[in-house]
Amino acid sequence: MALSGLQINKLLPGTNCKECGSNTCMAFAMKLASKKASLDECPYASDEAKQILGAASEPPVKGVKIGKGISLSEETVFYRHEKTFVNQTVIAININDTEMDAHETAKKIAAYKLERVGEILTLGAVAVTQKHLLGDDEYASFAKEIYDITSLPLILRGSDEAVEAAAKAVAGSASVISGVTMANADKMREIAKENGHILAVTADDVDGVRELTAKLKADGFNHLIIEFKTHSLAEAFQTNSIARKAALKNNEKALGYATLKFIDTGDDCEDMVIAVNEITKFGGIAVLPSFDRAQLFTLMTFRQNIYTDPQKPIQVEPKLYAIGEPDKNSPIFITTNFSLTYFLVSGEIENSGINAWLIIPECEGMSVLTAWAAGKFSGAKIAAFIKEIGLADIVDTREIIIPGYVAQISGELEEELPGYKVIVGPGESSDIESFVKAVLLKNA
Ligand code: SF4
Repeated sequence: MALSGLQINKLLPGTNCKECGSNTCMAFAMKLASKKASLDECPYASDEAKQILGAASEPPVKGVKIGKGISLSEETVFYRHEKTFVNQTVIAININDTEMDAHETAKKIAAYKLERVGEILTLGAVAVTQKHLLGDDEYASFAKEIYDITSLPLILRGSDEAVEAAAKAVAGSASVISGVTMANADKMREIAKENGHILAVTADDVDGVRELTAKLKADGFNHLIIEFKTHSLAEAFQTNSIARKAALKNNEKALGYATLKFIDTGDDCEDMVIAVNEITKFGGIAVLPSFDRAQLFTLMTFRQNIYTDPQKPIQVEPKLYAIGEPDKNSPIFITTNFSLTYFLVSGEIENSGINAWLIIPECEGMSVLTAWAAGKFSGAKIAAFIKEIGLADIVDTREIIIPGYVAQISGELEEELPGYKVIVGPGESSDIESFVKAVLLKNA
């Protein structure tokens, strides 16, 4: 049962020492009540307060770690604009024991890396499915081989005996045992406990899942994931939403767990739509039926956009960047420190084949026009930054190329930087290459 701010306040020390970052204990209590703070932030909380508030300050959707520390859930809001989503959906690939080139697929999964706006995006788990080509012990050896190649947590799916053997073979890997029902829950709980794994529980409907998670928790095992049985996109959307809402709004612990979804409709486009639904609608792990770079590129990019904190734009460090191997006479470009802008502009300069300098002033991670409108990318601000980094001592060039969308700051910038000429560059980064050819190389 969630406690109100007033009830929580009575349990706090009442000294208003401000060490938690709030001005008063009451203000901190209100934050705790709205799940916008954690009790750990008060160094003086008593053991009694910790005990009573422990459950109340727990994230409504329980966190769980798989593999070498990949976190799932711990979510506190229904929509990301309310605060932020905490742990992104893990994208996994399924490998069947019938797959001829399974080891090659495992190597591709292990090596998969997508770099986008300064972040490295990777796969988070591998499902190993027994299609009964292999016997139980062979399945376990197969699972171990896949684990040894990928070092990723596995999602084990097969007969009880096969999964038991595989769980022992990859003991300590914090893998997931899939498809646990009321019928095998006790046995699987012991296997998971002994070998350090997580259980993905399933039932015919939401009530059955509730019953099963409550039972396992009462039995002292709470490293759980929910695997809903859904048969259509609409049902998956609805079920995930019902569970998340029940956990967040009604504090219903029995549904407050990460989810696991195997995706395999036999139609690539439909699979993609279901995966997108999992990423947007609270999925914990989405398992794709095969390794497909085109699908992965789309899903990884989409996931990054959804799970980027909207209140904290991704930024790069404000400084002078060398693109290629510029010298004292190389051209100087300038743009903002919004990551996407930086990577687009630096990539296009690189593509144009020239060496150049790129000035990135502090703009709080805003794009060019937003930063200009907010007064963060004015002539005066840019000039101050250029002086701060000592550009005149590093480079002899006295021409600065500004983004075309802020042509209006050119006069102010020239006034603030006597001796410099400001050139208005293209508005779109995609036009940098033609700008370089038409203006810079022509005048060289
Ligand atoms: Fe109150 Fe603890 Fe915050 Fe100090 S740190 S103001 S005692 S809640």
